[in-house]
Amino acid sequence: MKDVDCIFCKIANGEIPSATVYEDEDFRVILDLGPATKGHALVLPKEHWANLFELPDEVAQKGILVAKKVAGKLRDALGCDGFNIVQNNGTAAGQTVFHFHIHLIPRYENDQAGISWTPGTLTEEDKKEILSKMDA
Ligand code: 5GP
Ligand code: ZN
Repeated sequence: MKDVDCIFCKIANGEIPSATVYEDEDFRVILDLGPATKGHALVLPKEHWANLFELPDEVAQKGILVAKKVAGKLRDALGCDGFNIVQNNGTAAGQTVFHFHIHLIPRYENDQAGISWTPGTLTEEDKKEILSKMDA
């Protein structure tokens, strides 16, 4: 399934050229045009799925293996000090391109990539509510 209006469908399937660091039958991994750090890459399935919740289990399984493999290759090639794997779903979570993708973000000591949040506090009320709603 492809979406004719989706830029990542066109990139993943080679209709628009990209800086490709890895490709197989189901995925293409490209350098991000607006990198958080040097080597920031995106894992794109060649089929169109808008987000994690639409993704078939088989594609999700293959995707995390591709992410692991290419993250390791980027780490070896670039000598980074750490790594973030980021995956945004929905506008509220920062998703801007609605074709599922996994961000591979090499991290360097003292880089300026702002991938962090201010920790809150888990209240008893929230904990009880969440656990009961999750049937946990
Ligand atoms: P999101 O915000 O949806 O999680 O991530 C979208 C990412 O795609 C952003 O980091 C943005 O820089 C990148 N991006 C958007 N358009 C293009 C493009 O045409 N080519 C490449 N290589 N990256 C893109
Ligand atoms: Zn697409």
